[in-house]
Amino acid sequence: MTALLPVNEAQARILSVFHPVETENIPIEKSTGRILAETVRAVGDLPPFANSSMDGFAVQSADVQNARRDAPAVLAVVADIPAGKHVTVPIQRGQAARIMTGAPIPPGADAVVPVEDTDLSPALHADVSNQAVPAQVSIYSGASPGTNIRPRGQDVQQGQILLEKGRKLQPQDVGMLASIGQVEVCVYRRPRVALFSSGDELVQPGRQLEPGQIYDSNQYMLAALLEREGAEVIRLGAAQDRPEDIEAILSKGVAQNVDLLVTSAGVSVGAYDYVRQVIESHGALTFWRVNMRPGKPLAFGSYSGIPLISLPGNPVSAFIGCMVFVLPAIYRLAGHERPFPAREKAILAEPVESDGRESYLRAVVNREGGHLTARLTGHQGSGNLFSLVQANALLILPSGVKSLPSGAEVDVWFIEEI
Ligand code: AMP
Ligand code: MG
Repeated sequence: MTALLPVNEAQARILSVFHPVETENIPIEKSTGRILAETVRAVGDLPPFANSSMDGFAVQSADVQNARRDAPAVLAVVADIPAGKHVTVPIQRGQAARIMTGAPIPPGADAVVPVEDTDLSPALHADVSNQAVPAQVSIYSGASPGTNIRPRGQDVQQGQILLEKGRKLQPQDVGMLASIGQVEVCVYRRPRVALFSSGDELVQPGRQLEPGQIYDSNQYMLAALLEREGAEVIRLGAAQDRPEDIEAILSKGVAQNVDLLVTSAGVSVGAYDYVRQVIESHGALTFWRVNMRPGKPLAFGSYSGIPLISLPGNPVSAFIGCMVFVLPAIYRLAGHERPFPAREKAILAEPVESDGRESYLRAVVNREGGHLTARLTGHQGSGNLFSLVQANALLILPSGVKSLPSGAEVDVWFIEEI
């Protein structure tokens, strides 16, 4: 019997054949979740000009240094500056400009006094909308140079790196791209994956089940997982356990010009497991027994020159196999900076057991009293999809560990989206 291949070695061998796909320019409004293929730098300062952080009056701070409610500084209002207006006339000593949040600070002024600290405070006036510009204003509070002014470049300076290549774009990143005036952004195209199931027992949802048949859950689950992680999935359906059928479905995948073929089931040692045989006749297949639970059997190779990963048929094994082996390949293809998601630490709320293989146990992990606490979600059989549905995380027991007591620390990998 061949030795079991360590999980990290299987991952490394798979990753070694994948490289980032080509890039494309897309509109920024379509870019959330895509992987940035260029480092984005600031083309100018942000904010681009010094502006007011309050609705109020732009003044020379020297004029209002000692202003108080009972000893106000009375200034002539010489300009009105709504947001979007550019004023060039300087503010002189004894003068003020009414100014709104975001409006450029006029030359000469070095501070803004909020309207609430003046005799024009909305609290003192019934109708605050559409007020005409007053001839003068009484200032009730002092200000020093820079008060309530957002200086040019406070947030970002020209040339500064804003977003690193390899970053998965988030909504706030899209805002950043817009704030520097970018219309398009260069991202990696989505990796294309062709996916099929195999098994005579499989029926697509919507059809009637005959005795002995089950619904093809893997295809839906794996497609959903791959799509959520950024792949474009071509769903090829389910192949019957006949070499011609498997060959036909593989050819369809190849014709779709994909980066990766993913199959589930039919790759084991059963009498009707033809997937291996078909792949070997048109390509190369390495069948590994990976030191992992669930999902020991895993096949990796290529078919007509396209990389192929065959996952086990049991739904939980297929899901975890996809997380552990297929997603890193997708992330690498997609140009992601890290092909492996972060793990966290949790404390076991109950003892756990496994068989010494690197184990991925379904669990609920909650934050309790300052740390994460983990509890299993019931029977860990690899066909029991409901225990995966109930889980929000996988506990990872390293190889060689057969049991851990309650209170022990374990690695966890969250599988839910927030
Ligand atoms: P196999 O690898 O073909 O021996 O399948 C292992 C187990 O997984 C069997 O119980 C199959 O019925 C089940 N199985 C295989 N493919 C799927 C699928 N697409 N959806 C749900 N269960 C499956
Ligand atoms: Mg089968």
